[in-house]
Amino acid sequence: MTEQKKLQPLQAVKGMNDILPPESARWEWLEDKMRSVLQRYGYQNVRTPIVEPTALFVRGIGEVTDIVEKEMYAFEDRADKHGQAEHLALRPEMTAGVVRAMIEHSFLRDSGRRLYYFGPMFRREKPQKGRYRQFHQMGVEALGFHGPDVDAEVILLGSRLLRELGLKDGEHVRLELNCLGAPEERRAHREALVAHLEAHKALLDEDSQRRMYTNPLRVLDTKNPALQDMANAAPKLLDFLGEASLAHFNGVRAILDAAGIAYSLNPRLVRGLDYYNLTVFEWVTDKLGSQGTVCGGGRYDGLIEQLGGKPTPAVGFGMGMERMLLLLEEVGVAPAAPAPDAYAVVPSAKGLPQVMVALEALRAAGVSVVLHPGQSSMKSQFKKADASGAAYALVFGEDELTQGLVSIKPLRSEGAAQYTRRIEAAAEWSAELLNA
Ligand code: ATP
Ligand code: MG
Repeated sequence: MTEQKKLQPLQAVKGMNDILPPESARWEWLEDKMRSVLQRYGYQNVRTPIVEPTALFVRGIGEVTDIVEKEMYAFEDRADKHGQAEHLALRPEMTAGVVRAMIEHSFLRDSGRRLYYFGPMFRREKPQKGRYRQFHQMGVEALGFHGPDVDAEVILLGSRLLRELGLKDGEHVRLELNCLGAPEERRAHREALVAHLEAHKALLDEDSQRRMYTNPLRVLDTKNPALQDMANAAPKLLDFLGEASLAHFNGVRAILDAAGIAYSLNPRLVRGLDYYNLTVFEWVTDKLGSQGTVCGGGRYDGLIEQLGGKPTPAVGFGMGMERMLLLLEEVGVAPAAPAPDAYAVVPSAKGLPQVMVALEALRAAGVSVVLHPGQSSMKSQFKKADASGAAYALVFGEDELTQGLVSIKPLRSEGAAQYTRRIEAAAEWSAELLNA
């Protein structure tokens, strides 16, 4: 016999994770909670492709940003029969894709749109806790509304979400707010900022030196500890805002104040993407180290035009699902593990056709019931029933089956007696197994 070479098992790409049970149940729990809140604000679901033309992100996010410069998975597709190959990228965020879709399908013609999405995003970052190469976001985008009320609305929505998840404001998360004004105001501020950066040129790291002229605002976003004092002392954009920007910002603040939403002003909050203007905000936590931003967003009135649509105001945010789950775990919010209503204990394979038909009747009536038939003993099946968290064991023993009966054993109530029911009448007694 020739010796077969043992094949090495393959592994997932670094920084890209499998999400398996029981962890996947936490994801579903989180998504359900989020959908329930989104629905109360009238947001509708959108799903766009994971792969988009690279140009969409270069134009949308901005060329001089971490994402486009260093983090994007961009590639050339295979050439078509004319030898032309498309430049494509895995989406690093979803706002640009949503805006593209809205323009492409003329969705912004009549009235505003309130949208939400869930999905994977891709960035080639250094993998660590709370930072992955494939990660997931829930996000909202409200397009076609220019008033400060909509900025406030998405913040209220985010805040409700965090509260309903059990996160306490001030203790677990806090909201930071800034106003980036309008392009003219940023130009005036930029001059003062560049002068400040030039005065500290010797101190600047490589990234900051490079960005000092191409995108000086982004230098304020630096996480380099050595640059924090310099960045804190930099001229503040808030001091360069004109009347209209201030009125908008104060409008947002008035609503948040009236609703009792606490926030702090952070003049260095500029966000990592180029498309923002006016209101920007982040929810941050100090429980996840330097992966402390769980949600970030703001207004992006210029993006729709930038991507070829009619000028349309817009505001939104993106929330990191992995970071939310890590934070919830960190602060001890644990969803109850999902358990079936019932677990079928079937000692002999002989009765399986009859048993499986009975289970179908139960499932048709809304009962969740699992079955692991096989060689295992009654004892081990009862053990599994118990571990599954099921409220009842349904025992289909040989004696029972010959009489057309099933024994129902309550597993969670101390001292509750076992009783029997007729298998063929399952539709009639199925409700007894629900909401145990
Ligand atoms: P950071 O400053 O931590 O790099 P960011 O500003 O790049 O975050 P955004 O582009 O605003 O993040 O994305 C919105 C949210 O998505 C973030 O607040 C964070 O919760 C999450 N997120 C961003 N990048 C990652 C990543 N690589 N892995 C996991 N979650 C991420
Ligand atoms: Mg980042």
